[in-house]
Amino acid sequence: MVRKTLIAGNWKMNGLLEDGVALAKGVAQEVKKVGRKDCEFLICPPFTLLTSAKKAIKGSKTMLGAQDCHFAEKGAHTGDVSPVMLKDLGCQYVIVGHSERRTNHHESNELIAKKAEAAIKAGLKVIICIGETEAERDAGKTINVCTTQIMGSVPECSTAQNTVIAYEPVWAIGTGRTPTTAEVQEVHAAIRKVIAKKLGRANANKMRILYGGSMKPSNAKDLLALPDVDGGLIGGASLKVADFMAIAAAS
Ligand code: PEP
Repeated sequence: MVRKTLIAGNWKMNGLLEDGVALAKGVAQEVKKVGRKDCEFLICPPFTLLTSAKKAIKGSKTMLGAQDCHFAEKGAHTGDVSPVMLKDLGCQYVIVGHSERRTNHHESNELIAKKAEAAIKAGLKVIICIGETEAERDAGKTINVCTTQIMGSVPECSTAQNTVIAYEPVWAIGTGRTPTTAEVQEVHAAIRKVIAKKLGRANANKMRILYGGSMKPSNAKDLLALPDVDGGLIGGASLKVADFMAIAAAS
């Protein structure tokens, strides 16, 4: 089963106009230079940089995504951005359910499913994030937690074409720590089984499951070589063109 590798950068709340544009331009130039057909590249800058990043990546195969959205199309939702607005701006992807939103904004599986459904209906692809906390891992609950999150936050309309899952152990995000490759493979294989239960075997076989959490040039090769790892969602290392591209080169 060929699943095209996806290398996605989550810039989080980083970047002012000048350095954000320079980063987007830098990635776009490198993506053009490497000319990979077996790998897709995505950058997810903050909302404030989407328009200028879109211009900066023009002419390269780099795709544009946002880091969150509301589930409504429009209306009285001060401070929120709708999937239709993101699509209108030129986004192809949106991340939903990142652990920082689950934790800091108390987002539930139900809310994340509503956001994902609305985004898909607006014509966007979604990256739905799941992952256990350190306490949950220590208690041996990793697979249970991921199963509950998939069952609750992946909408019925998800398919392998419109949805990507990102497995991001919360304790590995921004910490420099990662699970062992055997642990990552075990969780990814379990995730694929749960997707098969929810969306059918055909979708499960084709759906991409990214690993996220302290992925960097030095560990990317081993992680990206795992049979059920189909790419990476990269935070800190996506803020440097060389590191982001080195991770892609390891795939
Ligand atoms: C993330 O937050 O999506 C992430 C993977 O961050 P980092 O790579 O910095 O751990």
